[in-house]
Amino acid sequence: MSLDFASLEISAQLVQVTRELGYEKLTPIQAQSIPLLLEGRDLIGQSKTGSGKTAAFSIPILEKIKIQERSLQALILCPTRELCTQVAREIRKLGRRHPGLQILILSGGLPFQPQAAALQKRVHVVVGTPGRVLDHLGRGTLKLGDIRCLVLDEADRMLDMGFQDDMESILSKTPSSRQTVLFSATFPKTIEKMSKSFQKNPARVTIETEEKSHTEIKQKFFKTDENEKFAALISIFETENPGSAIVFCNFKATVAELAPELKRAGVSCAAISGDLEQSDRDRVMAKFRNQSTRVLVATDVAARGLDVENLDLVVNFDLPSDPEVYVHRIGRTGRAGKSGQAVSLVTPKDTHKAKIAAQFAGTKFELKTLRIQGDDDSSAMEPMGEALMVTIYISGGRKDKVRPGDILGALTGEAGRLNSEDIGKIEIHDRFSYVAISKKIAQKAFDRLTAGTIKGRRFRIQWVR
Ligand code: ADP
Ligand code: MG
Repeated sequence: MSLDFASLEISAQLVQVTRELGYEKLTPIQAQSIPLLLEGRDLIGQSKTGSGKTAAFSIPILEKIKIQERSLQALILCPTRELCTQVAREIRKLGRRHPGLQILILSGGLPFQPQAAALQKRVHVVVGTPGRVLDHLGRGTLKLGDIRCLVLDEADRMLDMGFQDDMESILSKTPSSRQTVLFSATFPKTIEKMSKSFQKNPARVTIETEEKSHTEIKQKFFKTDENEKFAALISIFETENPGSAIVFCNFKATVAELAPELKRAGVSCAAISGDLEQSDRDRVMAKFRNQSTRVLVATDVAARGLDVENLDLVVNFDLPSDPEVYVHRIGRTGRAGKSGQAVSLVTPKDTHKAKIAAQFAGTKFELKTLRIQGDDDSSAMEPMGEALMVTIYISGGRKDKVRPGDILGALTGEAGRLNSEDIGKIEIHDRFSYVAISKKIAQKAFDRLTAGTIKGRRFRIQWVR
């Protein structure tokens, strides 16, 4: 499908602007989303970076905006200040033939007062980060009672950065008659849940990228002996070098043995078991989700109810007897734009189980032999030891009124001056928070947090090991 802008039911000026900007054809996400958005439908959209999602939601907003009504009609939430700037720039470009159109950026890292003053003069569109938008709502400088369209851009990143509560508070302060548009690169369960609670009969538009053969999971079965399983697993890590992986064992005792053994071999890993205290479990899971730990070793029972998806690799250290369990396990792999990998170790007595599992999962059963690397080749082990991120503990949480934006602000604002790309997931708990930081700048982040304040207060900062 390659339509041009003139085929859309939009004003002649808007078509004219797209020509001036050199946009010849609608991109696929635009061709599918814009007509639905013009009709007023809620929408959940997915397509790769650079595919023109901003114009996909901005053109319908511009088409419907009533300039003469000097009220805030559209709100766009983005995860970072840079993204807010980019989105605002695109809307301004597209809105150049809408004389009088006022667009305001409300992101952290910029002074509050001028934003409040601009809001007083009335704007039509706000592009902001959840933290700062909520600040303005809290101080009464922003009112959302006239919002007709709300866009969550890069919704999955906002969730990763811990903005879920903020987004929900903001949504709850907009009229329920609003149109709700959600763009995301991936669809974790949390996004589905948000969509269910905040969207009405949303249309779903997914543009498959070529490299993504719709969440197809590559399944491999390797022949091993019982006493070779550990070496086989190491060898799999070496060849696959997954960013994040879960290793399933059938028994708690196996998990308890395997995890320390992997650690000794230099693998960044942790065990999750039903015996862990809740707080330890939370800590282990936070580190795994924010990529400070690369490998999680678990039984099915321990992994039940865990919000871990989008893994690079699932390993069946032991094959389950129930083929449904097998399918459930491997379903945790696969990321947008990348197919998932599932690898199973098959001992001679498990061959039948493996065949049944493959059949049940609809894949061809082919038992391969693994090339196990010798002990002399220890250098190959390096990558699995290196997690990308490290986790820092901050002794302030929700009850201290600490929000993700405050932590992000402390790191990327005037005092911190770090790049938001290096800041990973921020998890706010009642009395403390975790923030994931790129390893390469972790010490700097740690020092700046230690030296600085969050919400004007000094909190205890610690490494989470
Ligand atoms: P995404 O949000 O999907 O990552 P953007 O909205 O940032 O992508 O768009 C990427 C670039 O493509 C921008 O520079 C934008 O101006 C440009 N663009 C958007 N739509 C079109 C189009 N129909 N034809 C040509 N370029 C476009
Ligand atoms: Mg975008």
